[in-house]
Amino acid sequence: MIQKPKGTYDVFDTQGKQIQYLEKLFASLMEKYNYEYMRTPLFESSELFHRGVGDSTDIVTKETYDFVDRGNRNMTLRPEGTAGIVRSFIENKLYGRASIPVKCWYMGPMYRYERPQSGRYREFYQMGVETFGSLDPMIDAEIISIPVSFFRLLGLKGIKVHINSLGDIESRINYKKALLEYFEPHIETLCEDCKNRYQKNPLRILDCKIDQDKDILKNVPKLQDYLNEQSKKHYEAVKKYLEALQIPYIEDPNLVRGLDYYTHTVFEVEANVEGFGSRNVLCGGGRYDGLVETLGGPKTPGVGFALGMERLLTALEYEKIDVIQNKTLDIYVMPMGEQTKEYAIQQTMLLRMNGFTVDIDMMDRNVKSNFKQADRYHTKWVILIGEEETSTQIITIKNNQTQEEYKIKEEQLIQFFDEQIEEDMHETI
Ligand code: AMP
Repeated sequence: MIQKPKGTYDVFDTQGKQIQYLEKLFASLMEKYNYEYMRTPLFESSELFHRGVGDSTDIVTKETYDFVDRGNRNMTLRPEGTAGIVRSFIENKLYGRASIPVKCWYMGPMYRYERPQSGRYREFYQMGVETFGSLDPMIDAEIISIPVSFFRLLGLKGIKVHINSLGDIESRINYKKALLEYFEPHIETLCEDCKNRYQKNPLRILDCKIDQDKDILKNVPKLQDYLNEQSKKHYEAVKKYLEALQIPYIEDPNLVRGLDYYTHTVFEVEANVEGFGSRNVLCGGGRYDGLVETLGGPKTPGVGFALGMERLLTALEYEKIDVIQNKTLDIYVMPMGEQTKEYAIQQTMLLRMNGFTVDIDMMDRNVKSNFKQADRYHTKWVILIGEEETSTQIITIKNNQTQEEYKIKEEQLIQFFDEQIEEDMHETI
């Protein structure tokens, strides 16, 4: 038997419904925030990620799926969403729009050749947002508020926002200098990866899981001491807006995040799920004021985040939050006999086109097993279509919970269900 590739998973059954629900909820939230949907290719030139995500990141050095296509081009399956969106922003000249800031969202699969472990996949789904053009700290706070609102809407408790500021490019250059001086006499004590990071991006040493507990990392110069006035002002303003939005936050000076492109605000959102460990981090993001320029566009500030679908699903499962409990089939149609099927499928279609969720028996079940099927779907309303219904066009409807029966004229069918089925049942979110 051929099996799915390591680090991937199939979606079916209840999980399919949950994912669709989450995607819809996220899309509708993004509409409320006035963000537009964007989609970029699953593969891009490898160079995009080398330049955009950064040559010193684990993602690019160890985790990309690279291939040479038949035209001899170096291609990479996208390991994250930002670089592709920025490429598209530049290539389509979205910076020329009058209506800046450009605010967009995306969702889709990402690929990283990670060691498969709980909560880490090689193909995983992210939902994310990117904004371009605004330096206002208000937009940093708005971005942080999106996953927070999303998780609150879902009923996740114990949401914690960790924030830090990496400062602007000038502050980072000064800090980088200080780090290089600090680490220089101790290079030999660092792990192999960090020796490399020392050359390419010493900031990333702070993130190292291997060296984390060594004394050398405990006394490292603090980034906060190297923030210039402008950077401090920005950070203070972000915090002020978070307070105005009643979003509690925890300042975490060691939060640097894995990607090279961040400036100013970086953040992670955690759900306090018991037994979840480091997988508690559901979402991460920050400001990347230098990235558009690095990728060949005009100097444009940006802020964004990405959140992982799989971790969110696991968090919901641990917290016993059933997002689809009310999502049942509205109506189940039972044709009784070959001659009734044509009429039955017409009515099914009519009801679907009028906003109801409807299914019809396709297995020639008898009435008894059809009612069992309706029970499996937790369907409240059942339509029985026999020869009499077909000829009189008066339809028999049964409430599968109370067993009450109704005879309704075909032309009053929609009105009947509109009145009967509670608003919230077929309200699409
Ligand atoms: P990152 O793009 O690394 O900042 O990750 C953002 C979010 O994506 C994380 O908080 C996770 O929820 C999710 N994520 C990242 N890598 C993986 C992975 N290999 N498998 C599943 N989820 C992931």
